[in-house]
Amino acid sequence: MSAIIPSRKDASEVPAATRVVDLDGRYVIPGLWDEHVHMTQWALASNRLDLSGASSAREAAAVVRSHIAGSHLAGAGGTGAPGAVQTLVGVGFRDAVWTDLPSLGLLDGVTRGRPTALISHDLHCVWLNSAAAQRYGVRVDADGLLREDPAFALTRELGQLPDTVVDPWVQLAGQAAAARGVVGIVDFEMTWNRDAWLRRISGGFAALRVEAGVYPQDLDRAVAEGLRSGLAVAGSGGLLTVGPLKVLIDGSLNTRTAYCVDPYPNGGHGLLTVSEAELLALLVRARQAGFVPAVHAIGDAANRVALDAFEAAGIAGRVEHAQFVRSEDFARFGRLGVTASVQPAHALDDRDAAEANWPGRTDRSFPLRSLVAAGATLALGSDAPVAPLDPWTAMSAATARARQDGRGPWHAEQALTRQEALTASSRGRGRLRVGDPADVAVLDGDPLTVSDAEFAAMPVAATLVAGRFTHGGQ
Ligand SMILES: [Zn+2]
Repeated sequence: MSAIIPSRKDASEVPAATRVVDLDGRYVIPGLWDEHVHMTQWALASNRLDLSGASSAREAAAVVRSHIAGSHLAGAGGTGAPGAVQTLVGVGFRDAVWTDLPSLGLLDGVTRGRPTALISHDLHCVWLNSAAAQRYGVRVDADGLLREDPAFALTRELGQLPDTVVDPWVQLAGQAAAARGVVGIVDFEMTWNRDAWLRRISGGFAALRVEAGVYPQDLDRAVAEGLRSGLAVAGSGGLLTVGPLKVLIDGSLNTRTAYCVDPYPNGGHGLLTVSEAELLALLVRARQAGFVPAVHAIGDAANRVALDAFEAAGIAGRVEHAQFVRSEDFARFGRLGVTASVQPAHALDDRDAAEANWPGRTDRSFPLRSLVAAGATLALGSDAPVAPLDPWTAMSAATARARQDGRGPWHAEQALTRQEALTASSRGRGRLRVGDPADVAVLDGDPLTVSDAEFAAMPVAATLVAGRFTHGGQ
């Protein structure tokens, strides 16, 4: 495919000077979208200490100890004021499956006073040491943990690196995504996203289309500036579009804050972080202002609340995650025009946590097949940095319900077909049609017939956005 071949037959059918690329019998599919990304967090995560392999709090502490022992004062992965000892930031720990508990003392004992903040893999919890609590002016108990809003706030603060540092990381992350066949992302970074992306695009970012989400705290500003979902942002060369209005209404499975009908084994139903009346008011406001709501709902009670609000507000939209859904609610997604924006890799990351916290009810957790069968539209994503920004990881999890790790499939009856996964990863296109935008991925294998292992690691020869190569094509 490296050669540009002026095929005589083709040359007679296309205008002169048109570049004709011979794909050597490769497979072309519509370019892929990751429908749920936190792009700055994803770019930052690749520069932070990885704790995803720690199977206990002690192991996580040991990883931190050896990192600090191996690094000098301003080690890689740190953040902080220039001149000061940088904060060590770790990511990816999964305390829900640990048999021991994190504690302030455990982390203090291995960090030699260096400010250290560890962010859980689902971002809903931060474990910090005393030096970090002091640096960032937060109070923690003996467990050393912040959860939900205080955790989000500290995570935001830890991400406050100069744009000159972060933007090149985002550019690299965009190129890496293009190399996996991605042409677009929906970015739910919890900030005022429009200007960050305009800055990056004017600085040369061109790898992906970006739909930039808006949060309720910025809705007034967005409306005042004339924004609405789907609007192409001027000055972005067609790459940037205003995305959905993201509303979080519950927590997560791993922190047992997902809002559920039945109590957790240790009690409690999780958290509904926005009242039903507030949610309804927000969705009515979204309808009036031209915003598509994207409601984060993980637990089955939260999904019920979200669907009730869509119905009462008379607006379609998206539910982000839809990890646990009451049987009677599956058909409501299709009927109300609510897309289920799902992250299939989470099903495999969280299968143990789901079995532990939703015992006997996991037949309706991560219910991809049940949703499709009931008429719902699915949109696949990663929730990067929670899972890697790689649609083949997501589509592999959706179709095989297993990893290449020897562990058998989990609830295989909820699997999608390859074609369904491709369709849900390409905004409903599924296959190329004349008249579509020239957002295309070129594959080395046939995505409908290769083995599960090859599908999960699909080699992507080239990617084009609007007819322009963003990967390959030399
Ligand atoms: Zn998210």
